[in-house]
Amino acid sequence: MKQLDVKLMHPVEQINMVIGRIYRTGMTTTSGGNISIRDNNGDIWITPSGVDKGSLTVKDIVCVKKDGSIEGLHKPSSEYPFHKAIFEARPELTAIIHAHPPALVAFSIARQIPNTSITPHARFICGEIGYAPYGCPGSEELGKKIAREFINNNYKAVIMENHGVVLGGTDMMDAYQRFETLEFCCRTIVNAGKLGKVNTLTNKQIENYQSHFTSDINHFTDANYPSDERALRSDMVKIIHRACNQGLMISSFGTASVRWNESDFLITPHNVSRWNITSDDIVQVKNGVAEQGKIPSNQILLHQRIYELNPHINSIISTQPVNLMAHGVSGTKFDVRTIPESWIFLQDVPSVPFGTAYDNLDDLALMFNKYRVLLIENDCVFVTGDKLLNTFDYLEVAEFSANSLVMAASVGPLCPMGDAEIDELRIAFNVK
Ligand SMILES: [Zn+2]
Repeated sequence: MKQLDVKLMHPVEQINMVIGRIYRTGMTTTSGGNISIRDNNGDIWITPSGVDKGSLTVKDIVCVKKDGSIEGLHKPSSEYPFHKAIFEARPELTAIIHAHPPALVAFSIARQIPNTSITPHARFICGEIGYAPYGCPGSEELGKKIAREFINNNYKAVIMENHGVVLGGTDMMDAYQRFETLEFCCRTIVNAGKLGKVNTLTNKQIENYQSHFTSDINHFTDANYPSDERALRSDMVKIIHRACNQGLMISSFGTASVRWNESDFLITPHNVSRWNITSDDIVQVKNGVAEQGKIPSNQILLHQRIYELNPHINSIISTQPVNLMAHGVSGTKFDVRTIPESWIFLQDVPSVPFGTAYDNLDDLALMFNKYRVLLIENDCVFVTGDKLLNTFDYLEVAEFSANSLVMAASVGPLCPMGDAEIDELRIAFNVK
């Protein structure tokens, strides 16, 4: 069952689900943040004022009717004025999220606008970001300042000076994806800045990237689902949800695939929120053709070539965790000669230039003969392995190691293990 169904779930259920997720993933505090939905009648459903975000229930959500009357057990959020102002300014937006997640607040208090062009994906989901000057929380004046940004520039996300962020979406999932993607984009920029310079892409590079990935793929109709295929679907769903809960994947980005028979495999769908994926969403790919009625990840061709050219690989995860991407965005070498576990599990991890994912498909696929993990600059990390759980473990080890390196940058220069220690590990753990 979907955790968030924007078509059929009542607004109170959607709000309750999403505010719970935002709280559990460390993107708001007990008292901070508020979210709302405008329904077809023009009524606005919003989180209440002064109720613990960690234990909210559907009964706590308040409805402000179109005529201004209020229904519910509590007062609406004190920030209701700016929610109302945004809904009035932008009829196509039906969901709003406001919160104070740490990386976005860092930009808000440094009075800077994040450049989302660190990856094509962040740019595509978040777009250009607006900036609203400071206003007293809860005031009509603050509402006007924010609405001005939403009206004048058509932004869907606005940094609030010395406060936080407010984002809109065409539905609650759209708003959530923009919110989470922007916060992870900011965390990546902050971490990349600790390692070196933050490299961004030009509009031309981003357009070029997008033009290379097509969802125009052939489909077959006679899919069948034997027990071993169903078991793999179930494993994939569990690992993808786990990756989202561990901060290794976000709702709008991340692809996983598992080899099923020879070069046939199962892969995540395009455009389904990763933590909302169910077994039914997973796409079966046979002879390079996808099962009917589903759109596979736009990385389908690369995954296919990796399986074809690397018989030892049976699962692949590609994603954008904030510390690995800090290396990928700053052009910093991801040196895994940190602790024995990192090197034993990952061996050396090369970086390849942006664009390699479509410029040299076969060359990239062949690199996995030698390397288990690869970083594509300003794009993503690819992790490969035999069993899906092992691949997931490599991803965790890689992101933890990258996190230690980012932290070490504030402590002192990295002192990597030497060649003698690496040779010793090579022999002791039978690494080729
Ligand atoms: Zn606030």
